[in-house]
Amino acid sequence: ELGPSDLCHVESMSHNPSGAGKINKLNAVILGDSLASEEDDLILPSAQFSQSALISSQQQYENMYKKSVDDPAGFWSEIASEFYWKEKWNPNEVCKENLDITKGQVSIEWFKGASTNICYNAVDLHVSAGNGDKVAIYWEGNEPGQDGQLTYSQLLDSVCQLASYLKEVGVRKGDAVIIYLPMLMELPIAMLACARIGAVHSVVFAGFSAESLAQRIIDCKPKIVITCNAVRRGPKVIFLKDIVDTALTESAKNNVSVDICLTYENTSAMKREETKWQDGRDVWWQDVVPNFPTKCDVEWVDAEDPLFLLYTSGSTGKPKGVLHTTGGYMVYTATTFKYAFDYKPSDIYWCTADCGWITGHSYVTYGPLLNGASVLVFEGAPNYPDAGRCWDIVDKYKVTIFYTAPTLVRSLMREGDEFVKHYSRKSLRVLGSVGEPINPSAWRWFFNVVGDSRCPISDTWWQTETGGFMILPIPGAWPQKPGSATFPFFGVQPAIVDEKGKEIEGECSGYLCIKKSWPGAFRTLFGDHERYETTYFKPFAGYYFTGDGCSRDKDGYYWLTGRVDDVINVSGHRIGTAEVESALVSHPQCAEAAVVGVEHEVKGQGIYAFVTLKEGVPYSEGLRKSLILTVRNQIGAFAAPDKIHWAPGLPKTRSGKIMRRILRKIASRQLNELGDTSTLADPGVVDQLIALADC
Ligand code: ATP
Ligand code: MG
Repeated sequence: ELGPSDLCHVESMSHNPSGAGKINKLNAVILGDSLASEEDDLILPSAQFSQSALISSQQQYENMYKKSVDDPAGFWSEIASEFYWKEKWNPNEVCKENLDITKGQVSIEWFKGASTNICYNAVDLHVSAGNGDKVAIYWEGNEPGQDGQLTYSQLLDSVCQLASYLKEVGVRKGDAVIIYLPMLMELPIAMLACARIGAVHSVVFAGFSAESLAQRIIDCKPKIVITCNAVRRGPKVIFLKDIVDTALTESAKNNVSVDICLTYENTSAMKREETKWQDGRDVWWQDVVPNFPTKCDVEWVDAEDPLFLLYTSGSTGKPKGVLHTTGGYMVYTATTFKYAFDYKPSDIYWCTADCGWITGHSYVTYGPLLNGASVLVFEGAPNYPDAGRCWDIVDKYKVTIFYTAPTLVRSLMREGDEFVKHYSRKSLRVLGSVGEPINPSAWRWFFNVVGDSRCPISDTWWQTETGGFMILPIPGAWPQKPGSATFPFFGVQPAIVDEKGKEIEGECSGYLCIKKSWPGAFRTLFGDHERYETTYFKPFAGYYFTGDGCSRDKDGYYWLTGRVDDVINVSGHRIGTAEVESALVSHPQCAEAAVVGVEHEVKGQGIYAFVTLKEGVPYSEGLRKSLILTVRNQIGAFAAPDKIHWAPGLPKTRSGKIMRRILRKIASRQLNELGDTSTLADPGVVDQLIALADC
C-alpha cells in the first residue's frame, strides 16, 4: 500500500539537515513562491484598531518585552502592585527559581511570603470599586432562549453562600474539592468558592467517563464532589450523577471514600425524583446552599499556596496532575487576558472552552473576572440546533471577543458560509484560537468569513502547564501571518534547541523550550515531583521543555509544528504533522486531516493521511490524487502522503484534539493495540475508520 513516493526527489535533498524551517526554505526554491508566500503573507492590523489598542505598535511591545526580560522582578512587581495583597512580597525575592536539573531540585516561586486571595481580587474588589451592578456572567443554556445572568454583586453573594457551606461541612484550606459540572454558572461559582476558602479545586471535564473521574478522585482524595444530576448537550441528555455514583463506588474500592456529593438539581435536564440517591452522602445544592449567609470571610493564602490541580487531557498517556499556585497565576492570567484580547471594560467576552480545561480556568473564570469583564458561559453545543448557533449567540449578546479552537473553526467551515453570513456579527472586534496549530486556510476562513476581514486573530500558544498564554499575536501591535502564533508574551523567553539541547539562533526549527520561569508556570505534578522533573526539565538541561516542535522564520515569527512525538521522519527529513495537514486542509474539498507516520521499508517512515471531506463530497480516486498533488505543490514531493485514508470522522480527545496515538495504530493495522478508546469524544469513529481502511 505504501508505495515508494518520489525517492529521487527526497535524495536530492538529503544533504539538507532536518527541520521544517529548512524545508520551507527549500520549497521557496522549488516552488518559487508557494510556501515562501505563506511566510510572507502579512495581514496588517487596521490603523483604526491599532490607534485604540492597548499596545499599538511593535515598538511599544518591544520596549515592554525588553523590560520584562531584563528585569522580570521589577516588571512583574509593578503589575502585581495593581492587585490587592494582604501582605506584600519581599522586593528582593520576587522570583526564586531553579530550572536546571543538574544544579539540584527544580523549583519555581513567585511572590513567596506575600498573601492574597484570587477570589477577592476577581469578585469583591469590583464590587467595592462600585462595579457591583456590572454583569459578571451571562449564561446561555443548551436551548436557544434559555438564559440567565449574574452581576458582580450577585456573583459575590452566590460564591459566599457556597463558600460558607463548604466551610460548614469541614472543607479547610488545602483540602481538595472535585468539581464535575457542566457549563452552568455554578461551575465558576464553585471554583471561586473553593479559592475563597483556600481549598484546592480540581475540575474534571463533565464529559469524562466514570473511570477517568475515579482515577482523578483516587489521585487527589477530595472531601467532597460537586456535580449536578444531568445536563442536556445538543439533543442528548447526559446523566452526570450516575457517572459520579459509579466513580465513587470505584474509588471506594481503592480505599478513597468521599463524604459528600453535593448535587445541583438541573431541572431543565432531569427532575430530582428521577435521580438515584444515596442518603447520608448525597445532598441537593438547592436544599442547603441558599440557606447560608451571603458573607464569608476570605482566607488569605500565601502566593505559593496551591490554587488548583488540573489533570491534562491525556493526549499522551496517563493524566498528569498539573498544580498551579495562587499569586503568580493570578497576575499572569489577568495580564495575558488583558493584552491578548486588547480588553476594554465595554467588551463582552465569550470563550467556547469548558471550565474542565485549562482554557476555561484561565480564560473563562480567572483572567476575565480579574479584569472585571462580562463573560459569557455557554452550556450547549456549538452546532445545536444548527451550525449557526455561535453567531446567533454573538448577535444576541453583542459579543466583542470570541475565543475558540481550530477544531470548531474547521467543523463550522465544513458546513459552509451561509450559516455565518445569516448573522450580522458586527459586534465582533477580536477573535482567538487555541488548542492546536490553526491551519492557514482555517485561519483565513475565520478571519475573512467570521470576522469580515476586520478582527485580528489571537492565535494563542500555551499549555495546561504554562497557566497562561506564551506565544501569541497582540492584536493591533504587529502584522499577523495566518498560522503563526507570532511572538512571545512579556517575560517569556522561548528557545529553539536541537537534538543535543543546544540553542539555535535565527531562522531555524527544532524543539521548543523556555528559558527562565514566568509567574504562571506550574510548580509541580501533584504527588510526583520526580515525573515533573523528568518530563519537563530532564530532556534539555537548563530549560523547560514544552514537548512541541517549532520553527522560527526569517522575520522571527514562531510557527508551532505540533508535538514532537508526532513528528514524522521521512528519509531523514523531519516533517511536522501540522504542515502536511495544513496543506491538505487548504484543498477546497478537504474539511479536516490528520497525518501520522508509518513504517516504510525505504524511507524509514512514510506519510499516512486521514482525510475528512467537506459535507456531501464523494470519495474518488481523482480526489485522492488531487489531495496528494496539493501537498506536493505546497510542501514538496518528499512530504506527499503515501496513503490517503478516507475518514468520516477523526478520533478526538474530549477537548477536541486529534488523537494521533490511535491513528498510528490504525495506520499500521495494529488493530488489537488501539489502547483505551473510551476517553475519546466519540469512540464510534474508530470502527468507521477500520471499516474504510482498504477503500
Ligand atoms: P497532554 O499533555 O495530557 O498530552 P495536551 O498537551 O493536549 O494533553 P493541553 O495542555 O491542553 O493538553 O494542550 C497544550 C498543547 O496543545 C500544546 O503543547 C500544543 O501542542 C497544543 N497547542 C495549544 N495551543 C496551540 C496553538 N495556538 N498552536 C499550536 N499548538 C497549540
Ligand atoms: Mg501537553
